[in-house]
Amino acid sequence: MTQSDHCCAEMARRVNWRCDQHDDPFACPDALVRFSARFQEYGLIVHDGGTSTIGITFCPWCGRRLPESQRDRWFDELERRGIDPWEDDVPAEFEDGRWLSFLR
Ligand SMILES: [Zn+2]
Ligand SMILES: [Zn+2]
Repeated sequence: MTQSDHCCAEMARRVNWRCDQHDDPFACPDALVRFSARFQEYGLIVHDGGTSTIGITFCPWCGRRLPESQRDRWFDELERRGIDPWEDDVPAEFEDGRWLSFLR
């Protein structure tokens, strides 16, 4: 993923947020957005001590509609390859957003 793949500079800044005090974004009070590259999903981090996020459909900063979630397709594509993500090793390109470029 490059920054230009996000809807605006502020979103890119939030998604790529790195803090030198917290390795884990869920532990960092300044981390707001978590982007799942494999599912193309954006979520607001809930700082309740766990790892929950609230999915968002629109960008809170520029208001643009965010890309459609690819979660179902991710599972479909693995199934088509005969891979069970719960049992088998998931190919490296499925660990992030690269699998999407194979389909285009
Ligand atoms: Zn921090
Ligand atoms: Zn935006």
